[in-house]
Amino acid sequence: MSSPLLSLEDVSKHYPVAAGRGRRGTRGHVRAVDGVSLDILPSETFALVGESGSGKSTLGRAALRLIDVTSGAVRFDGRDVTGLRGAALRRVRPSMQAVFQDPLGSLNPRLTAGAIVAEPLAVLGGLRGSELDDRVDELFRSVGLDPSRRASRPRALSGGQRQRVSIARAIALRPRLVLADEAVSALDVSVQAQIVNLFADLRESMGLAYLFIGHGLPVVRHIAQRVGVMYLGRMVETGAVDEVFDDPRHPYTRALIAASPVPDPRVARERIVLGGEPPSPVHLPSGCRFRTRCPIARDVCAREAPPIVRLSPTRSVECHLAA
Ligand code: SF4
Repeated sequence: MSSPLLSLEDVSKHYPVAAGRGRRGTRGHVRAVDGVSLDILPSETFALVGESGSGKSTLGRAALRLIDVTSGAVRFDGRDVTGLRGAALRRVRPSMQAVFQDPLGSLNPRLTAGAIVAEPLAVLGGLRGSELDDRVDELFRSVGLDPSRRASRPRALSGGQRQRVSIARAIALRPRLVLADEAVSALDVSVQAQIVNLFADLRESMGLAYLFIGHGLPVVRHIAQRVGVMYLGRMVETGAVDEVFDDPRHPYTRALIAASPVPDPRVARERIVLGGEPPSPVHLPSGCRFRTRCPIARDVCAREAPPIVRLSPTRSVECHLAA
C-alpha cells in the first residue's frame, strides 16, 4: 500500500459559543469535529457522508488548512502542515485545491471566465503571454468547455458551465488533492452526472485524489473508493464503498442508506426512520452520541463512549455492538 497523500490524526475543531447578551465568556463549545483520523491515498477518492451539521465541511476545510484545527495533526505528502502560516502555507496551497457548491459565490462576477482561470496561473504559476493563453485554452478543453467561452462572465454561464470553470481554476496549478464540497449538489441530475464523470476523468488523467463531500449516496457510490460516515463530529464508520453500502454495520449508516432514494422503484427496502433531530452539538449526550436516536441502544451506550472496532485493515465502526 502506498503512503497516504493526506493524513488527519485525531483532528478536532471546536468553536466557542458566546455566553449571551450582557454576559462575558462562553457557555460551551460546538464540537464540530471531535477526534477524527483518516488517510487518503494518492489518486484515491474518499467520500464523507452524513446529515447537515455532522462536521463534513469543517473536516474538509481543516484538511486543506483553510481553517486552523483546535487539536490534532494534518499531514500532506508526509509533511506536518498543521501549524504552517503565511508564505510557508501559500507554498503548499497549489497542491491542495477546493471546488465548492455555489460557483456563483466563489467566482468573481467582474472577471471573465478566462481571467478567472488565468489568475492562479499568472499570480502563482508565473505564466505570461501566449504560454498563459495556451494553458487557459487547454484547461477549458480539459473540463469540457469551448475556449470561446473565455469571454463570458459567470452570470452568463449555466450552472454546469460555472462549475466547470471552478474546476478548471482548481486544477490549473496541477494540485494533487481536491476538496469537492457539495460540488454537484446544486446541479440538475443530468449535469451532476457530467461533472461527476469529469471528476473521475481528471482523477485518471492527472492522478488527482479527492476528498468528496456529498449528501447523495448513489453519487458517492459511483465516484468514491472509500467512504467515511460522520455523525455529530465523529467518524462512526469507514470502509470501501461497496462494503459499507452493502453491509452497513453502524445503525446510523443503516438509517442513512435506508433513507436514500432507491434508483429502481421495484426494489423494496426496509425503511428505517430516524427518531428525532440530532442533539445539540453543544450539549452532547453521554456515552454514544447517536444513542438518543439509535433503535438498538443499550444501557452501556449511555455510560461509555463506544470503542472504534476494526473489522478489517480498511473497515472500522464506532459502536458497542459492532464486534
Ligand atoms: Fe447505538 Fe449503542 Fe452502537 Fe451507539 S454504541 S450506535 S447507541 S448501539
